[in-house]
Amino acid sequence: PTDTLARFKDPALCGNLLDRIRAELDGPLAFMEVCGTHTMAIFQSGLHSLLPPEIRHLSGPGCPVCVTHEGEVAAFLEMAGKDDVIIATFGDLMRVPGPRGTSLKLAQAEGCRIEVVYSAFDALALAQKHPTAKIVFLGVGFETTAPTVAATVKIAAEQGLNNFFVFAMHKLVPPALSALLQDPDVKVDALLLPGHVSTIIGTEPYQFLATDHGVPSIITGFEPLDILQALLLIIEQRKTNQPTVVNQYSRAVADAGNPQARKIMSEVFAVSDALWRGLGTIPHSGLTFHGDYRRYDAREVLGVEVQDLPPLPGCRCGDVLKGKMKPSACPLFSKACTPASPVGPCMVSTEGSCAAYYKYAL
Ligand code: SF4
Repeated sequence: PTDTLARFKDPALCGNLLDRIRAELDGPLAFMEVCGTHTMAIFQSGLHSLLPPEIRHLSGPGCPVCVTHEGEVAAFLEMAGKDDVIIATFGDLMRVPGPRGTSLKLAQAEGCRIEVVYSAFDALALAQKHPTAKIVFLGVGFETTAPTVAATVKIAAEQGLNNFFVFAMHKLVPPALSALLQDPDVKVDALLLPGHVSTIIGTEPYQFLATDHGVPSIITGFEPLDILQALLLIIEQRKTNQPTVVNQYSRAVADAGNPQARKIMSEVFAVSDALWRGLGTIPHSGLTFHGDYRRYDAREVLGVEVQDLPPLPGCRCGDVLKGKMKPSACPLFSKACTPASPVGPCMVSTEGSCAAYYKYAL
């Protein structure tokens, strides 16, 4: 398998594909890589500088920390301030700026109990260790992470744990793509679809991209060869005027996705409207607890509401997440906003576009 993976980085094969892309390209092409991991992969592999200048890549709304709404950040900071609460969170969220310059990291320094965990299961262990505290796990992420969080909630129910809760901020990718493509200001010729999300949802939920919007859309992996092959497929589709959804990442993504993971997710969560940073409220794009599982909903238990707060002053993450603006065009980029002193989440997250541009494109 290691040898096979190495082939996906093979310089000669990549060179061949680049030559074919240059030969077949029939005009300017703006593609959006929906997923933050693709943004990083394009920079890390050097493809950013090797692609023909007519090909522009735009970042999309596929970085889970970046799309977490200002109101959600304010809500989990409010939860962190409660005496009987221990927040369990992935490390990426620690430095995401909230209103008035606050963050979980600053809250921790001021005495709030906040633990960095590596999985939702670690948060369960915290609940067992601190039976008199309310453990609130911050559930961010797309269809990729939601099934694991749902499975953790089911385990909590089986174990009768009554001090484990989840602030579910999960988001669903296809409705966000639908909202993006309906925005007349978003100019995208093609999409690179997220490999990880697709392992769960498969190919079917994306079909509308081709049938309703006529946008070539390729589910692709994260190696240079994957991305180049996807671009060649896009160019070929455009030439024949036959936009379709193609699963280029078939070594990891089954066309049917992972039905078992979706089943667990749907047992615990119901689809709901959700607030996205930069994109506002998108119908049917989030997950909320349903049925008996509502007792694990941190929002309900702690009485904390998510408000539709305005963007952080000066931060253009919203425009970056819609592909309307390159990070380097933000007036604060690399000046007031750096990874050491981030103004917005797109500079915080390892999958954030601003962090990627800062690291690789300065
Ligand atoms: Fe926001 Fe900083 Fe990115 Fe500008 S550079 S959009 S302030 S995160």
